[in-house]
This record gives sequence, structure tokens and C-alpha cells, in this order.
Amino acid sequence: MRGVSENFDADVIVAGLGPAGARAAAAAAKEGKRVIALERKRRAGMPVQCAEFIPTMVSQELGELDAVTRQRINAMETFIEGETCERTENFPGRMISREAFDRRLVEDAIHAGSDCRFGVKIAAIAEDGAVHLSDGQTLKAPVLIGGDGPRSCVGAAIGAVNTDMVETRQLTVPLLRAHDATDIFLSEQLPGGYAWLFPRGDVANLGAGVIPCARTVLKDYLNELHEDLVAQGRVGAEVLSYTGGAIPVGGRLFSYAMLGDTAVLLCGDACGLANPVTGGGIASAVISGGLAGEAAVGWLDGDEDSLDDFESELAAIFDPALNRAVRRRCELLGALGSGEATAADFRRGWIAYEEYWNDETTLVRGNAA
Ligand SMILES: Cc1cc2nc3c(=O)[nH]c(=O)nc-3n(C[C@H](O)[C@H](O)[C@H](O)COP(=O)(O)OP(=O)(O)OC[C@H]3O[C@@H](n4cnc5c(N)ncnc54)[C@H](O)[C@@H]3O)c2cc1C
Repeated sequence: MRGVSENFDADVIVAGLGPAGARAAAAAAKEGKRVIALERKRRAGMPVQCAEFIPTMVSQELGELDAVTRQRINAMETFIEGETCERTENFPGRMISREAFDRRLVEDAIHAGSDCRFGVKIAAIAEDGAVHLSDGQTLKAPVLIGGDGPRSCVGAAIGAVNTDMVETRQLTVPLLRAHDATDIFLSEQLPGGYAWLFPRGDVANLGAGVIPCARTVLKDYLNELHEDLVAQGRVGAEVLSYTGGAIPVGGRLFSYAMLGDTAVLLCGDACGLANPVTGGGIASAVISGGLAGEAAVGWLDGDEDSLDDFESELAAIFDPALNRAVRRRCELLGALGSGEATAADFRRGWIAYEEYWNDETTLVRGNAA
């Protein structure tokens, strides 16, 4: 058993208290492990950097969501530039308060016994897995879990780095007409990403994402879309808040390594688990965080296979969807790069369309629209 000795500050150190880190901390602490979780933000979930949509399809493992739900979603409406909008029924989900959701996960971790420390920035990870904080302190544990998001310093320490990213910008605006769908805007102007309008009661999240080298289009594209929606009477002109952030879109990274005698595990965005096409990563963060916490417990209790089992479980759960999304995203980027992208390319690259899911469909350029 690799439990706490006097040389260690805890059994498990968790970097980041987003959904992945908070769930990892809770899972390890529930089994009686001593957990220290470190978060650079001063408050759980704040500021919100999220469009706050959780599809029903992936929500089963997230626990009771009613208390954090702000509105139900029934359908998806996709706008391919120059085409008429298509409504896909039976695309249900919830718009949540991400602040309330993250806060609840942290409360669960604290309730399970984790020592959750806010306003604490990790400055560096040493070669032996020791965690150097920006206030000069150093902490050490036999297990280090990286739940520290897309630009994870824990991942960097073990050479697992998200290289493909989407950059985003999002406004929250008043919603003037009730809406029950997530609206998706696909455009040549948004390579590697899309724009969205997600209704959340009397407000809506209006955002867009693109590959980093195209990020300069974000502001103008969103302003124009906002103006159009104001002209249609759907949203108000006032901008209530701005946010943004990076989303990893290159697919899953290898999830563990040893740094000296420290077992290092990655979960959530740190492990590249956000969907490369939709950008959705809340559910995969929570699920992988729970598995990382359980694997840490196994490792500490002497189960030599626990890290390999963790990697295999992540592969089994996430790789099929992530690999498809990586393929579809590359295909669409290729078509956009050639300057010959058609509506058929966009359809094949977006989850609302049958073509996205159909492996038999082969696009014949020039004959595809
Ligand atoms: C604009 C935008 C919209 C999105 N919309 C959706 C959506 O609608 N639905 C969906 O499912 N997903 C969405 N996502 C993706 C989703 O937000 C992420 O996949 C999810 O938050 C990943 O959770 P995580 O815990 O892995 O990482 P994070 O939520 O990023 O949490 C990581 C935590 O680590 C902390 N941290 C990082 N570095 C350090 C350090 N050095 N020291 C201490 N703490 C550190 C951070 O402050 C952060 O709190 C969106 C993302 C963006 C940017």
C-alpha cells in the first residue's frame, strides 16, 4: 500500500477544480484518501467559460441536474450558410448554470473530505512530481491528477500536450423570444469551428469558435450575427457579459505516466476529451475525473494494473466518438482549405446530419451538393 508517509502532504494532489478535478477529488476522498485539490480561481466555476449545454445523451452519469437546469432543450437548428435552416427534432438536453454545476461538484468533493484550496496557482511540476505553487510552497503526493484544463501544466510535465485547439468568444445577451433549440451556424468564415445561440431562459449564450490562426474573425463575425438576431427580434442589443477560452480538438491524449515515483493521471480537457466537432466536454470531464479518482485509489492500495486499466477504460468509453469527430473535422478543414467546401461537406462534418454518422457515405467532389 502506497499510503501517506511523513514525506507526503497528501495521498492525492488534484490540479484544477473544474468538473474533472472536482469529481476526481471527490472519488478519491470518498474512499478515505487524503486529497488536496488546488484551483487558481477564487470561486468554483467563476468566471464561467462555457455555453452551458449538456445533451441528454451524455447526461446520465452527471447525477441530478434539475437544481442547476435553467431551461430544457428539445431540438437542434442548423444554419449552413446560404442554405435554409434545418431543425433536427429529438436532440434533447439542458441548459445549465455552469457556475452552480461546478460549485455543486466542489461541494461534493469537500463533503467527501477533500481539502479544496482556491486562489492557489500551480507554477510548475518538478521532475519527481512535486507541485510547486506560485506562493513558493511545494507539495508532494504519491499520485498527482491533472484536471487543470486544456493548457494543463500537469499534462505538459508528462509530455501530453493538447496541440490542436479552437479559440472561442461568447456574449451573453437578452433572449426576447422563447426558444427550445440549440442553434448552430456553420460557415466558411469559421474554419474548424462554428457559431452558436443557446437559449437559457431569458438570456442566451451567443458564441463562436475557430482555429487559432483565424481568431481575428471572431469579433466581427459575432457582432454581425448579433446584429442579425437583434434585427430579427430574437435577442436584445445589450451585451450582458463576455467570455471565451480554448477547447482542445485534437482527440484523446495518453492518460498517465510516472514522474519519479509519482503516478500522474490526466482527466477532462487536460486529457483532450472535449469533442473536437461540438466542443462539448462537461460530461467527459466528470466521467473521466471519477475514473481518475478511482484509479488513484487502486494505485494507492497496491493495484499495479490500475493505471493501465484507467487508460483502457478511457479508450473504450471515449475513443469511438472522439476518433470520428477528429476525422470529420479534418475532412471539413481539408474541404475548406481547398476552397471547394459545399453544403455536403458541412453536413458530413456536423452531428445533426445522418452523413456525419454514416461511414459508407463517400463525398464525390463536384457532385456532392
Ligand atoms: C466558450 C466555451 C463554451 C463551451 N461550451 C460547452 C458546452 O456548452 N457544453 C459542454 O459540454 N462543454 C462546453 N465547453 C467545454 C467545457 O467547458 C470543458 O470541456 C470542460 O470545462 C472541461 O472541464 P475540465 O474540468 O477538464 O477543465 P476546466 O473546466 O477548464 O477546469 C480546469 C480548472 O483548472 C484550473 N487551473 C488551470 N491551470 C491551473 C494552475 N496552473 N493552477 C491551478 N489551477 C489551474 C482552471 O482555473 C480551471 O478551473 C465549452 C468551452 C468553452 C471555452
